[in-house]
Amino acid sequence: MSQSPKFSSQLSPAPEGLRVDLLDRYGLFINGRFVEPASGEWFETISPKDQQPLALIAQAGIKDVNKAVQAARLAQPKWAALPSSERAKYIFRLARLLQERMREFAVIEALEGGKIIREARDFDLPQAVQHFFYHAGWADKLQYAIPGVANPQPLGVVGAIIPWNFPTLMLAWKIAPALATGNTIVLKPAETTSLAALMFCEIVQAAGLPKGVINIITGDGQTGAALVNSKVDKLSFTGSTSVGKMIAAQAGDRKITLELGGKSANIVFADAALNQVVDNIVDSIFANRGHTCCAGSRLLVQEPVHDRLMRLLERRMQTLRIGDPLDKNTDLGPINSLQQLKVIQDLTASGIKEGAEAFTTRTSLPRKGFWFAPTVLINVTPDMRVAQEEIFGPVLSVITFRTPEEAIQLANNTPYGLAAGVWTNKGSKALKVASQLKAGVIWQNTYNRFDPTAAFGGFKESGWGREGGLAGLRAYLKEPKQ
Ligand code: NAD
Repeated sequence: MSQSPKFSSQLSPAPEGLRVDLLDRYGLFINGRFVEPASGEWFETISPKDQQPLALIAQAGIKDVNKAVQAARLAQPKWAALPSSERAKYIFRLARLLQERMREFAVIEALEGGKIIREARDFDLPQAVQHFFYHAGWADKLQYAIPGVANPQPLGVVGAIIPWNFPTLMLAWKIAPALATGNTIVLKPAETTSLAALMFCEIVQAAGLPKGVINIITGDGQTGAALVNSKVDKLSFTGSTSVGKMIAAQAGDRKITLELGGKSANIVFADAALNQVVDNIVDSIFANRGHTCCAGSRLLVQEPVHDRLMRLLERRMQTLRIGDPLDKNTDLGPINSLQQLKVIQDLTASGIKEGAEAFTTRTSLPRKGFWFAPTVLINVTPDMRVAQEEIFGPVLSVITFRTPEEAIQLANNTPYGLAAGVWTNKGSKALKVASQLKAGVIWQNTYNRFDPTAAFGGFKESGWGREGGLAGLRAYLKEPKQ
């Protein structure tokens, strides 16, 4: 049952007690230790809630990138030659050490990324830990991973590039399978969320991992481009479709995994349990401030229940608390960066200009920092930019439909195909609709459920390949010769 707005605004602050001491500046983690960048360049990382500077981060240049790749290259044969049970032990160690320090990582993610502490603590970090545990389990069972292949072989050195929306989880999605399969890795975090990856280097050291197996280089898109152009054997990228396309064009004959953008449809039939739907809509689009690749950013609602659902949603939205991401009661923190805030503002304004109507929360936003109130756009038509382009913010585009056929047609009508949700009390209807949706993951009567054993990835411009599960593991192994 939704609470009254009055109750929500009366909650007392519940700030996270743990403080994490940050260094003034962080070098590059190459060959098992932190080093100064040969580039001599540094950039500032700030907190998006108030623009407070947090630390200086090294900007890796081409020389630095090549040095990291070289370190990974030298370490790889020995890492692959270790008894597989030994490799497994190291990955178990990473999992356990990360588990012990989950709270610190959650604080860093909230401070630097703007993610609310509740999500970082209860979702991102446990999922990241699970990912390491899951892949540790595979390390000594690779001979069973690919049917007909008794001795699967690693690819060599992996170049991994990740975005800012799930800093530790995306790191785990890359590092865990790469290591389990006998590869070594050079990973570049996003420039607005480097700190979690840098803190992870302390775990790598504490786990006693052989030098050069994991290297973390920081920097912006230029550093990413240098990694793509370096001599890595595999590219694993999570980020925007535009950058993903460039990487695909430069990959040559190297194996690639691309996890890209989305414009996922959450389809609500008139027979769905609307109160349950409302809570899940809130979760599917406003979790992580909409900075989620698989966010249910298009709500397709069957006409007879549209008005009722919108009334329930508007009421539920008034209970959302927007503010300090380090407060345990906060539901939405700041937008990750000024650049992303502008994208969200521009796209939302375009929707309104094209004829959509907006409703939002009636709370005031903090003056400092990067803030955007959760917003719902109704009367959206499929041709509008807000129905086609990824906003990657807390903005929901609502479109109505009459028949299941129309819902399927609308759902598939974007360049993306990452995820979808189907809400109905008829199992057969859900299965029939799901079988015709072009989406890598489809949830029924729920949304945003993840498990390391299940493959995740998209169709069309949402990506190439899968992460997680056996399919994700296979992407880090040589394919059997035909
Ligand atoms: P982005 O593509 O701008 O940046 C992602 C990473 O790529 C960053 O580390 C960035 O520094 C680097 N980069 C930028 N330009 C580069 C270049 N020319 N060559 C190499 N690397 C480069 O994306 P973003 O804005 O950080 O992240 C948001 C996007 O990520 C959204 O589109 C979202 O849907 C997508 N995403 C997808 C998934 C998934 O699993 N499908 C998960 C999370 C995020």
